[in-house]
Amino acid sequence: MELALWTYEGPPHVGAMRVAASMRGVHYVLHAPQGDTYADLLFTMIERRASRPPVTYTTFQARDLGRDTAALFMDAARDACERFRPEAMLVGASCTAELIQDDPGGLARTLGLPVPVVPLELPAYQKKENWGAAETFYRLVRAFAAPRGTREVGPPRANILGPTSLGFRHRDDVTEVEGLLRALGVAVNVVAPLGAAPADLARLCEADFNVVLYPEVAGMAAAYLQRQFGMPQTRTVPIGVGATRDFLAEVASLAGLDAGRVAVSSRLPWYSRSVDSTYLTGKRVFVFGDATHAIAAARVCAEELGFEVVGLGSYSREFARELREAARAHGIEALLTDDYLKVEEAIAALRPELVLGTQMERHVAKRLGIPCAVISAPVHVQDFPARHSPQMGFEGANVLFDTWVHPLMMGLEEHLLGMFREDFEFADGAGPSHLGHGTAAVPPPEPIPAGPAAWAAEAENELRKIPFFVRGKARRNTERFAQERGLRTITLETLYDAKAHFSR
Ligand code: SF4
Repeated sequence: MELALWTYEGPPHVGAMRVAASMRGVHYVLHAPQGDTYADLLFTMIERRASRPPVTYTTFQARDLGRDTAALFMDAARDACERFRPEAMLVGASCTAELIQDDPGGLARTLGLPVPVVPLELPAYQKKENWGAAETFYRLVRAFAAPRGTREVGPPRANILGPTSLGFRHRDDVTEVEGLLRALGVAVNVVAPLGAAPADLARLCEADFNVVLYPEVAGMAAAYLQRQFGMPQTRTVPIGVGATRDFLAEVASLAGLDAGRVAVSSRLPWYSRSVDSTYLTGKRVFVFGDATHAIAAARVCAEELGFEVVGLGSYSREFARELREAARAHGIEALLTDDYLKVEEAIAALRPELVLGTQMERHVAKRLGIPCAVISAPVHVQDFPARHSPQMGFEGANVLFDTWVHPLMMGLEEHLLGMFREDFEFADGAGPSHLGHGTAAVPPPEPIPAGPAAWAAEAENELRKIPFFVRGKARRNTERFAQERGLRTITLETLYDAKAHFSR
């Protein structure tokens, strides 16, 4: 048992639903109790999809448990096949149905349905949504991908793998990446699962290589295609200008083309070099999300915006190795957890000046009074925007720059705050005024805790004069400085000595 209030990912059958809902001609029959249809709302409300996802639920109730739930499943599968006439069916169980062990795959086989049936075994008590999506996509690719026949001559071809329904900015990322490939001279063979039909999966091997946009979803399928059919795959996810450049170089080398054909067309490099961005240098950032977005965001922070990454974490346990490696490169230790309380604890302890995270970190940052921007699922409805808002490619980098800088106090205001702490409008702790009422980022009063060294009143007053967004760091540094020297009281002098010591 684990006490959970918020969860970063849904159960694995939601991942399977995301794959089914992404595709054309696929129907998913889900053995599930009454009430599980809540998941439809994720698609119709959050993603604002105009039609119900292609899912039939058996919706058994308590009274059905005394009867034949297997018969219920078989009726539902037969009816769904007749009514929706899909090209292929997925069958599986949700968490509760897993316990009654009806074996949807075996039952569907006995029905002799006129379409291919792909059974899903999704262990709901060990795995989560992204794994469910990855496993479902892998099963579909395994079922349909066929060896390539004679290849027509023409430009090199690539598949784009991983985008799904309910994916954070997947729709717009695909547009960007298609544009990058086109600019290089690479033709797109199949985009999957988003928008693909089973017949398209059968054509996957007509491509020369696979572009893996979201390893959390496409990793297993791409590894299978590499193993089985020798198809190479890309490893770089093009989030940020540097990563987009690396991605183009990787694709060019796989395709035997010249990466120099594509010019860097993002405004991010100039915007972050322009003098107005000077005040961004060294801002302390905490990054959390799925592994792909968190690792990419940390790189953009450090290499392209001049931020200091003070925390890097993910809930994607399957990518622990990659995350640890990335964290090491930033000189920190990775935080691998799906417990938002641990994430909150880490943020509170590090007191960063900016949090880049998921919807959960937005709540945490709001409570702690820290500016925040969203970089990864899970997300609310406002992160399925009407406008074009990719994260990938050169336009994606423009979006990242605007989105991440926006919650921060503007340079002039930050300066005024440091100078006129008593001002009624630009008072200490007031939120950035470009965000409206100026109350958005009021940090909680920071008690000076009793540590090995006590704060003299004079030193405490001086500490409070330091602008609030760097006060936490100054306090910690001074306490460490005092502790290392065995000082029992932190005086004004200690505070200045510590400042001189750390700014050396
Ligand atoms: S089967 Fe799983 S997803 Fe459905 S209501 Fe029960 S716990 Fe929730």
